[in-house]
Amino acid sequence: MNETLKIAVQKSGRLYEGSMKLLKECGIEVSNGNNQLRVQAANFPIEIFFLRDDDIPEYVQDAVADIGFVGENVVREKNKKVDQLENLGFGKCRLSLAIPKNGSLQKAEDLNGKRIATSYPVILGEYLREKNINASIHEISGSVEIAPRIGLADAICDLVSSGSTLFTNELKELEILLRSEAVLISNNNLTATKKMILESLLFRIRSVKKAKNNKYVLLNAPNDKLDIICSLLPGMRSPTILPLAETGWSSVHSVISESDFWNIIEKLKSNGAQGILIIPIEKMIL
Ligand code: ATP
Ligand code: ZN
Repeated sequence: MNETLKIAVQKSGRLYEGSMKLLKECGIEVSNGNNQLRVQAANFPIEIFFLRDDDIPEYVQDAVADIGFVGENVVREKNKKVDQLENLGFGKCRLSLAIPKNGSLQKAEDLNGKRIATSYPVILGEYLREKNINASIHEISGSVEIAPRIGLADAICDLVSSGSTLFTNELKELEILLRSEAVLISNNNLTATKKMILESLLFRIRSVKKAKNNKYVLLNAPNDKLDIICSLLPGMRSPTILPLAETGWSSVHSVISESDFWNIIEKLKSNGAQGILIIPIEKMIL
């Protein structure tokens, strides 16, 4: 099989680390030495192209790359013909409207007749139309957060994660337009071989994601509490139960989801579980 799947990844910036880490967790070895534009993986039929994130949707649409890892915010803004296949669990942020902390603007409707600076004119334009707000959009490509201070705009629409950039610029978040994370996009006309490679990559990505969302739990329980404890543990099938050397006690093994974690642990403890161990899972194949 000579055909390779060409994958576009951000060259440098907020998505670079997460993208390379995910490929690594999928068992794909990539050496991105000395700033190359493209690299062939050593043990999987993919070739990685390092690009500016803004260009990735267009390159994938035009089949320069077959698939790409890029922020959903960019996919929505660029509006190219690509298939969005999977959320990747990193690069989480939101696109928000923000206004000066102590200004006269209070709510979205106050933006009528005002100027909003953004790098996301398409998404912002859609929002303003939907809400019937008649504001003018000033498209700028970087440092949007300083626009109100230098008198370039009355408000901004920009990406936020912790909110610290807004805070240092004396801005406050008014409304969230979009919640975003890195996603996998694909060209919609792949060859059969490329589709096969993509399926295999997706299988690995899903196994990595499932593993991250779950923990392996080991605990000791008195035998008369096993029923109640097992009912608290959903597990992949049912929990594994092994007798301990001490009579009347068993060791219970299961898998629990990260989101239920604290809730379940407390219930397990209050129902007699002891010596609870929580272990990260590396890969999870169902
Ligand atoms: P490039 O040089 O590739 O154009 P960039 O400066 O446009 O890079 P980055 O700031 O590296 O882009 O952000 C890339 C992506 O990371 C964003 O499009 C978004 O999906 C995600 N992201 C996550 N958190 C944030 C944040 N706090 N601010 C900006 N982007 C974020
Ligand atoms: Zn960019």
